[in-house]
Amino acid sequence: MNSFDLREFRVITLEDVDNAVRAGAKELLVQPRAILTPSAKDRVTAKGLSIKGGCCDSCSTTGGGGCVSCSGKSGGSASAPNATEWDKILNSPEAEKIKDEIVAVGKKLWMRQYVDGNGGNISYRIAENAVICTPTLTSKADLKASDMCLVDLNGKQLAGSAARTSEILLHLEIYKAVPEAKACVHCHPAHATAYAITGRVPITCVIPEFEVFVGKVALSPYETPGTQKFAETVIPFVKKHNTVLLANHGIICWADTVTHAEWYVEVTDTYCWTLMLANQLGSPITHISPEKNDDLLQLKKKLGLPDIRHDAEALKECSLCDLPEFPGGIAVMPASVSGGPSNASSAPSSTEMESIVKSVTDAVMAAFSGKS
Ligand SMILES: [Zn+2]
Repeated sequence: MNSFDLREFRVITLEDVDNAVRAGAKELLVQPRAILTPSAKDRVTAKGLSIKGGCCDSCSTTGGGGCVSCSGKSGGSASAPNATEWDKILNSPEAEKIKDEIVAVGKKLWMRQYVDGNGGNISYRIAENAVICTPTLTSKADLKASDMCLVDLNGKQLAGSAARTSEILLHLEIYKAVPEAKACVHCHPAHATAYAITGRVPITCVIPEFEVFVGKVALSPYETPGTQKFAETVIPFVKKHNTVLLANHGIICWADTVTHAEWYVEVTDTYCWTLMLANQLGSPITHISPEKNDDLLQLKKKLGLPDIRHDAEALKECSLCDLPEFPGGIAVMPASVSGGPSNASSAPSSTEMESIVKSVTDAVMAAFSGKS
């Protein structure tokens, strides 16, 4: 067995694994409780390398550091990575790509007027207990990769010269509650926030893209921004919703990538805007039939996107379109729609609706197959 010794490193990056691969390694020797970044872990699996050592018994057999069974247990102990090692994570080639993506997404948020002043914040979980995030008091139009911070899941800053955003606690509660969440985007887009300040969530079963990418939006109760109490308001919702409206505040979306989390913000805000415009037309909004909407939910399930309606009981309720999610979290139908069924003459035919569903399916599959 051709072993490659990486025991000098607490944190093992993709670059370290590639060096070992170039040297013809079949086995990596790592120190106890070593942390592998997600890309390093993927490369180990792709190359079929075995790992000797690792952070715990299960890591040494499955070939990765930063496992769930041992993460957090060593916090503050002598075996936690030191400042230089956290710097290494924040400056790894993998982190550089993420930081560039955060800078690009920050510009998109600002150009779409979803943030004002120093508002909004963006984060990405790069390792089990390490999250890259935007700094405080910086316009999202002016972000630089070198401004980014690294924090642990308790919000303690591990690396980066600028101070972390005060809103990171909100993102961290999502990472703790939802293992699939890798990225969060929080901002204050005007149309979605208009719903949030009137205690409303948008109705569903109207536009296919919204159903697939977002669907039922939750509304969390108001708390003072930046506090732990505020951060915890989203916990009851984030497992089954990738998008939460924050009462009297704004929106937060989580996803597998920073770019996708920003997409969900765009999809939600544009959808809220469209509903507002439609309501001004004075005609009832036409709904997608429950059967056709079920096609969209099936597609969504295949894509691994969360939706409270994946639960069979909730799906039954969905045919009533928009029951309250919890007392106080009201989903109010605009007056022009509450009268009931759609205007038959303006409803698309089933053939038209089938072609809409097909084109959305194709677009979504293309977007997801192009992501990696
Ligand atoms: Zn905010």
